Amino acid sequence: MRYDLAVIGAGPGGYVAAIRAAQLGMKVAVIESREAGGTCLNRGCIPTKTLLHSAEAFDRMRHCEALGLSVSGCGYDMEKMHARKNEIVGQLRSGIEQLFRANKIDLYRGTGIILSAGAVAVKGEGSEETVEAGKILIATGSKPAVPPVPGLDLPGVLTSDGLLAGPADPKRLLIIGGGVIGVEFASLYQRLGCEVTIVEALDRLLPNMDREISQNLSMIFKKRGVSVHTSARVEEIVQEGEALVCRFTEKGKPGEAAAERILLAIGRRAATEGLFAEGVSVETERGAVKVNERFETSLPGVYAIGDVIFGGVQLAHAASAEGIAAVEGMAGEAPSVNLSVVPSCIYTEPEIASAGITADEAKQRGAAVKTGKFIMTANGKTLIEGADRSFVKLVFSAEDDRLLGAQLMCPRATDLISELAAAIANGLTGRQLASVIRPHPTFCEAVTEAVEAASGKAIHAAPPRR
Ligand code: NAD
Repeated sequence: MRYDLAVIGAGPGGYVAAIRAAQLGMKVAVIESREAGGTCLNRGCIPTKTLLHSAEAFDRMRHCEALGLSVSGCGYDMEKMHARKNEIVGQLRSGIEQLFRANKIDLYRGTGIILSAGAVAVKGEGSEETVEAGKILIATGSKPAVPPVPGLDLPGVLTSDGLLAGPADPKRLLIIGGGVIGVEFASLYQRLGCEVTIVEALDRLLPNMDREISQNLSMIFKKRGVSVHTSARVEEIVQEGEALVCRFTEKGKPGEAAAERILLAIGRRAATEGLFAEGVSVETERGAVKVNERFETSLPGVYAIGDVIFGGVQLAHAASAEGIAAVEGMAGEAPSVNLSVVPSCIYTEPEIASAGITADEAKQRGAAVKTGKFIMTANGKTLIEGADRSFVKLVFSAEDDRLLGAQLMCPRATDLISELAAAIANGLTGRQLASVIRPHPTFCEAVTEAVEAASGKAIHAAPPRR
C-alpha cells in the first residue's frame, strides 16, 4: 500500500500529526513498536500525574484536621494506585486507536526502519513488510539518559520507566537529578511518607526555571523533610546489604546517602537507535536529528518533530504543535500554531508553570523590563485551600508594556499559564490584561494583582516603598 505520509512513532507528536494530516486529506500510515500514546501516555505524563493525584489525596486526608475534619484508618495501596493508573492509560490509549480508525489511518505494529526517503520497513515479531510513502515523519521521541557512573546497573536503580512500570513502594528513595522528573517523583513519594533524597549536579533544583521558583521549592521540600543536595556530583553507587548507597561529592566534600531504590532522572536523549537502514542517514547533533524551520531533515522528504529533534523543547505539547506545523507545511498550508511560546508545567504542590522569558533572561538579552509580582497570602482561594507559599510573577517590556514572560508557583498554575501564554503569543499589554474582569474567589485573581503590581497598583498589596 502506498501512503502520502508514514509517521514513525505514535506518541503525542506522531499521533497528533497523523490525525491532522488525515484531516488535510492525506492517506496516512503510523508505525509503532509499542503502545499508541508514546512515553507521555504510557510511561510519562499521564501515569505520573495519576499517581501524584492519589498521593496528594492521601496526604490531604492525613492532614485534614486543619480543615476541621478527621479520618481514621487512612492508608494507601500502591497496587491499587497502579491499577487505576493502568486503567486511565488504557482508556486514553484505546481512544487514540479509535481516532486512527475514524480518520482511516493505518496503524502498523512493529519497528520502523527507514530504507530510503520513500520507504519504511516495518519489522514485527517474525514478520517484515514495507510501507511506501511520499513523505516520512520521524516522531520516535526520547529515552532516559544513563551516564557512565559505576553501579547504575545494580538492580534497584531505575529510570522513570522502571518506577512507573510496577508497584514499587520504597520507604527510602534517592533521586539523581533535580530536574522536572526528579522533583515530580520527589513530591509523589514524599506525599506517601517515603524518605526522599535528591542529588542535583547544578547549584539549584529546576536549574532551567526562574531562580525564585527553585528557592521556593527547596524551602517547601525542606519543610516536608525532603533532603536536597545541590552542586553534587555522583561518583558511584554500591550495594551494602539491603541498601543502595550513593556516594557523591558535594561542593568539593564527600557525601553519601542510602536508599532502597534509586531513580535516575538526569534528562532524556533522542531515540534514533536502529531507525535507519545501512547506508541511510540524516544529519544529527549530539545524537538528535537536525531539522530546518519546516521540520525537514537533511534527507529531502524525511521530516522529524518532538523529543528526537536537536534544539527542541522536550515536552508533549511542543511535540504535538510541531507535528501539526510540520504536516500543515507538507500540505502547503501556513502553520496554524505559534511555536514561539511553549508553556512549561511541573506538577509539584503548589504547581509550577512558566512561559516566555524570566527577568534574568531579559537582562541577559539587554531588554528593559518591568516586573509585577503578587504573593498569594492575600488571595482568598489560596488561604481556603491552605496552599504553601505561592506567587505569580509577570515580566513586561518597559518600552511597550507587552507581556514577555510569566512564572507561576501556585495551585492550578498549570491551568493559569494558558491565559498568559496566549497573552505573550498575541503581544497583549499589561493594560489589556488588567482590563479583564477575573472571577472572585479564584486563583486567577492573582494575575490581575501581578499585572497591576508592575505599575505599583496591586489592590491587595502594600504600596511600594518610595
Ligand atoms: P531535566 O533536564 O529536567 O533535569 C535533569 C537534571 O539532572 C538537571 O537538573 C541536571 O542538572 C541534573 N543532572 C544531570 N546529570 C546529573 C548527574 N550526573 N548527577 C546529578 N544531577 C544531574 O530532565 P528530566 O527531569 O530527566 O526530564 C526529562 C525530560 O522530560 C525533560 O525535558 C522534561 O521537560 C520532560 N518532562 C516533563 C514533565 C512535565 O512537563 N511536567 C515531566 C517529566 C518530564
